[in-house]
Amino acid sequence: MRCPVCKSREIHCRGKLVRRFRTVPVGQKAVYIDLPVQRVECTRCQAVRQVKIQFADEHKRYTRSFERLVLDLSRHMTIQAVARHLGVSWDLVKGIQKDNLNKRYRLPKLAKIKRIALDEIYQGKKLGYLTIVLDLQRGAVIFVGNGKGADALIPFWKRLKRSGARIEAVATDMGPAYISAVRANIPDATLVFDHFHIIKLFNEKLTKLAS
Ligand SMILES: [Zn+2]
Repeated sequence: MRCPVCKSREIHCRGKLVRRFRTVPVGQKAVYIDLPVQRVECTRCQAVRQVKIQFADEHKRYTRSFERLVLDLSRHMTIQAVARHLGVSWDLVKGIQKDNLNKRYRLPKLAKIKRIALDEIYQGKKLGYLTIVLDLQRGAVIFVGNGKGADALIPFWKRLKRSGARIEAVATDMGPAYISAVRANIPDATLVFDHFHIIKLFNEKLTKLAS
C-alpha cells in the first residue's frame, strides 16, 4: 500500500471505510460491491486518505466496468432509456457521459510537442479567419484562435509557456506577423517556410521578372 498522492510507502493504517459500488448487473438484477477501503495516514503529506482502488475512479460510486456499460448503451439509447434500464438516475448517466467527453476532448498537453505549424483558414466573409496551430508529429490541431495574425496566437503562447514545451521548429507561411510572433515567443525555434509558399513566391517573382 502507498499514499495515493505522493506514492510514499511511509504510511500508517487508519482503519477502513466500507464503500459501495454499483457494477454490471447480472441479468435484470442490480449488483453492488461492498468493499472496505483501507485508509492510510501518510507521514510525508501528513494527511489521511483512502488507498487507490483498481476498479473504480476516485469519489465514484460505480465501477469502471459499469461506466463502460453505460457508455456502450448510450451509443444506442437515450439517457432516459439507459437510466431506466439500469435502474439509476438520469443525472448519473449524464454524469458518466460528461466525464467521458471531458477525458477524451480535454485540452491537449503541449509539454512534449517539438514541431508545430501555424496556418490560417478563411471561412468566408461572415466568419472571417481562424488561426490554427498543428502538432506536426501527430498531425493534430492543438490550438484554434479567432482571427488572423499575431493577436490570434496570444493565448497559445501563454499555454505553451506554461507547458514548458521546447519547440524545435515552426513552419509558417512567410507573413511577417507570424515570423515576428515566433521570434518573440520562441526565439530558439527554427523557422521553416513550407515548400508551397516558397515555390509560390518564387513563381510570382519569376512572373514579374518575365513581364
Ligand atoms: Zn503522501
